[in-house]
Amino acid sequence: MSDALWEDLAATLESVAATSSKREKVARLSAYLRQLPEPVLPVACVYLTGRVLPPGHPHKLQIGWAAVVEVLQDLSGASDREVADLYLRWGDLGDVAAELVARRRTEPLFPERLSILAAHALLERAAAAAGKGAAAARRRALRALLEQARPLEAKYLVRVLTGDLRVGLKEGLLQEAVATAFGAPAEAVRRADLLQSDLGAVAALARRGALQEASLQYFRPFRFMLAGTLSTPEEAFEDAAEVFAEDKYDGVRVQVHCAGGRLALYSRTLDDVTPAFPELHRPLLGVGEAYMADAEVVAWAGARPAPFHRLQQRLRRTDPEAMAGQVPVALFVFDLLRVGDRDLVDFPLEERRRAGEALRWTPPVYLATGRRVRDVAALRQAFQEARARGNEGLVVKRLDAPYQPGRRGRLWLKWKEPLATLDVVVVGVEFGHGKRARVLSDYTFAVRDGDRLRVVGRAYSGLTDAEIQQLTAWFQEHTVRDLGRFRWVEPRVVLEVAFDAVTRSDRHDSGYALRFPRILRVRTDKGPEEISTLEEVESLYLQQAREPPDPSFRPPTGGVP
Ligand code: AMP
Repeated sequence: MSDALWEDLAATLESVAATSSKREKVARLSAYLRQLPEPVLPVACVYLTGRVLPPGHPHKLQIGWAAVVEVLQDLSGASDREVADLYLRWGDLGDVAAELVARRRTEPLFPERLSILAAHALLERAAAAAGKGAAAARRRALRALLEQARPLEAKYLVRVLTGDLRVGLKEGLLQEAVATAFGAPAEAVRRADLLQSDLGAVAALARRGALQEASLQYFRPFRFMLAGTLSTPEEAFEDAAEVFAEDKYDGVRVQVHCAGGRLALYSRTLDDVTPAFPELHRPLLGVGEAYMADAEVVAWAGARPAPFHRLQQRLRRTDPEAMAGQVPVALFVFDLLRVGDRDLVDFPLEERRRAGEALRWTPPVYLATGRRVRDVAALRQAFQEARARGNEGLVVKRLDAPYQPGRRGRLWLKWKEPLATLDVVVVGVEFGHGKRARVLSDYTFAVRDGDRLRVVGRAYSGLTDAEIQQLTAWFQEHTVRDLGRFRWVEPRVVLEVAFDAVTRSDRHDSGYALRFPRILRVRTDKGPEEISTLEEVESLYLQQAREPPDPSFRPPTGGVP
């Protein structure tokens, strides 16, 4: 037989979840992987990463929460209230699915055991569905699977579909399990996985003893190298006499793949975002050689960057061609990862930079601005110049460093001036997810605008579990309006929040939003009358804005009751 049952995959995952010993997890998984038939191995491996399709797959299986709940309700007759209660009890949609599948109103006449390849074929077809009927086709596929699935299968099927297996299976353990299963060195598996971003394909190589064949592949995106944070300019020279000081562009990161007349741009989440930036296609295709590059897309005001929020407008729109005229973009290439058939990731930055300089970039695509610096004074100077060009600051890079996919290390260090913090008051709270499903851990907060409060953001990170417990009890007693998951609360709890930027936003009634807000602490010493004002938010916005505010922008009305 060349297929395998979903039941065994689900049982393996359940047994992996049941032990907290990493060694035991690896042992159970590797035993499972070893016995899988050839064609099932790559598919099951991808499922074990919590995805149906590997990154860079041309299709995307968009089956959201709402679709899963709808199908489960349809099969079980459960009401909205029951589903909400079950979710609050379990904190996980997979567990809810297991319970609701057990309560199915009708059972299939000839129940067949769910096989991995058959189920996968169904999901792949659903992912390929496009256009009007696509959502319905996906629901039908989901329904067909959940009609047949047993509770344990449904639990893990739904977890795979929603992208979180929750069995304590970090990527590293999975790589180790593949290595153990096929007697390969763990480091070789890890490296092959970083290059190919497809553990399924890597497992197949490992089984054949051919891991050395793994290489970067055009149109298979891989993980981005990440930057650490520079706390003082002096730190840049702790391990190096000379560093590369490169402008830090404030936009969105993309990985460019270009080969054989085809072009693709991938986002940080490895999604294909090529259609969002039509004006970059021609210059990127015109480079004249096959290459992979790392780069930042920036909203562009002719000769300078425009504020990040302009780019957000661009990303949200469904008609990229129309938006291209209104919000132009530029692309700044800061790294070359492959040129022709040559992988460059192991070469030092110096050499990769030379490879970038040797290619022909045409506007609006540019090579990132950067230069070598040897002391703190020169680094400060470079920082000021980057700011003067309208950029966020610098990324300080080690000239001898390889490109390390998926790593956040000290080889790249970002330096941007922190913005001021704001004191805000919590006006709305919401239950969290997972282990926070029973506590009110998501906070919507506001600043003062005369007599009114105006919402400027939502945050859910930064507090300790004990603080959240305490606040939950308080919020439960001081709820103004209970809307189920969300409740408006008395505006009394003051938080100090840090954030990366203030952006214009129509999501909140203030007309602004804080980007990446993080709670620094609860300001028990402050009352709501002392919180920051909308004026302060506006002035922070203007300080960082590199162009006058969009005059056509009108904040929406309504808001905090
Ligand atoms: P942060 O998002 O603040 O953690 O900073 C890291 C991000 O800065 C990267 O993920 C890139 O999107 C962006 N970035 C902008 N310019 C550069 C550059 N020259 N080198 C590397 N990353 C850059």
